[in-house]
Amino acid sequence: MLALIHCPSLPLLQYKSNPSLKVLVLNFLRPEIREQNMKVLNSIPLHALLVMQLFSGLALSQDFDFFYLVQQWPGSFCDTQKSCCYPTTGKPAADFGIHGLWPNYESGSYPSNCDPNNPFNPSETSDLKKSMQTNWPTLACPSNDGTEFWSHEWEKHGTCSESVLKQHDYFETALQLKAKVDLLGALKVAGVNPDGSSYSLKDIKDAIKAGTGYTPWIQCNTDPSGNSQLYQVYLCIDKTGSDLIECPVFPRGKCASEIEFPSF
Ligand code: 5GP
Ligand code: 5GP
Repeated sequence: MLALIHCPSLPLLQYKSNPSLKVLVLNFLRPEIREQNMKVLNSIPLHALLVMQLFSGLALSQDFDFFYLVQQWPGSFCDTQKSCCYPTTGKPAADFGIHGLWPNYESGSYPSNCDPNNPFNPSETSDLKKSMQTNWPTLACPSNDGTEFWSHEWEKHGTCSESVLKQHDYFETALQLKAKVDLLGALKVAGVNPDGSSYSLKDIKDAIKAGTGYTPWIQCNTDPSGNSQLYQVYLCIDKTGSDLIECPVFPRGKCASEIEFPSF
């Protein structure tokens, strides 16, 4: 079995029909399990091997299908039971901030923590730090300069799109995408302002669609009195990180039909 997983590009027919290849592949295994694997391989019908090869090939070639670009409204992050802390660099601007760029599968599930050997390394993104402080500010407590949030996002999500975006490019891509998508501008043009009043979820979605060209997914949280409020906006990005796309699948969760847009 190990041999099949490690060598998915070799046509399985060859494993079955070519004894020397089978031995070659089995030679990669430890001697004590080689014999056992040879027996297992010989006992599996060819059609079952073909199906298994298909799945092992898919798993290796398809890291993820698309990204969610997730932006948070700072007023809603702070306006909860848990409250928030401003970063050591000062109160962020009253604008949406990046939460993350998350590789996802079209099935709705997602990979996470894909490469423990590649932790966040601030020196790789030192040229982006100022822009990250402005556009990707942390609001978690205790106050810090953002490094903890960026490390978390890189390690949980960024490492799962390493095949496409190395560490520097991952952060640069997220910043470039945010610059392309002016969520607050799109909402304001439609008369949806962060003034603590309530707006219909439909008006919010329509405004973002009109401004960006793409359908967003809105995530709500609740203020201390239990009111539903605009917390995060999800937009979908193609696998290369270059273009917005219509979302192949939306996350789960519900907002009320009228939601608050708190000030910050
Ligand atoms: P929550 O439970 O607050 O929706 O999500 C908690 C965390 O799980 C998010 O901040 C994110 O790291 C991860 N997460 C939740 N939903 C998704 C999703 O649809 N795709 C990805 N890639 N991560 C998600
Ligand atoms: P996620 O929900 O993405 O899995 O986890 C987010 C993590 O980043 C949490 O551990 C949270 O404490 C931390 N974090 C730091 N700053 C922020 C922030 O501004 N917003 C959010 N949502 N999480 C933050």
